[in-house]
Amino acid sequence: MKTVATVRQIMKQIAPRIGLTPKKHLDWIVKLATDKEPQTPGDLMNQPLCIAVFIFLERREALRIEHDGKANVPSQGEAEEIVKEWKKIIRAVINHESILKPRIRHDRIDWREASERYVEACDLDDWTTLATRALVDLVLRYGNLVKICRAPALRGKKKKDICGKWFVADRPNQDHCSSTCRSRAATKAKRARDRKK
Ligand SMILES: [Zn+2]
Repeated sequence: MKTVATVRQIMKQIAPRIGLTPKKHLDWIVKLATDKEPQTPGDLMNQPLCIAVFIFLERREALRIEHDGKANVPSQGEAEEIVKEWKKIIRAVINHESILKPRIRHDRIDWREASERYVEACDLDDWTTLATRALVDLVLRYGNLVKICRAPALRGKKKKDICGKWFVADRPNQDHCSSTCRSRAATKAKRARDRKK
């Protein structure tokens, strides 16, 4: 289990892994959801803590520390379940499908002593709802930037093979995951134009 002395130490260790802005958080989740980027054992071990930090940053709440000094985080199994749900949501976003907004059970707001503010009341141990809801809120803000790269594949065997990487674009009109994919797509488009001449 994670025995860490202070919230500040946890944030210092974990926040850079998941990014410092909501858009970076989305980028972190899209990378997690991409099967093409396998997780290292270290990443997997840290996943429950990363998820907890993500949720509390997005809800602008303080991470809860139990009386024994351990951070309250999802179990390894819950973390796996959350990543699975996140993958489903990102796949839906890529395809521009509708997404069910996970329900928070109560129509109530609560005062949180630790973060000294009101937050939407919810069952704080229902990690999957918290995690999917936080992602859906990010999708509402930045869903137009979540894309699949349709540049020709690096070693494309067939004509229809594409890079296929999921990514978060910096700007709405950015269509490729990287500058190399962008130039490959431009070269292919130019060749197609030249052939037509
Ligand atoms: Zn690409």
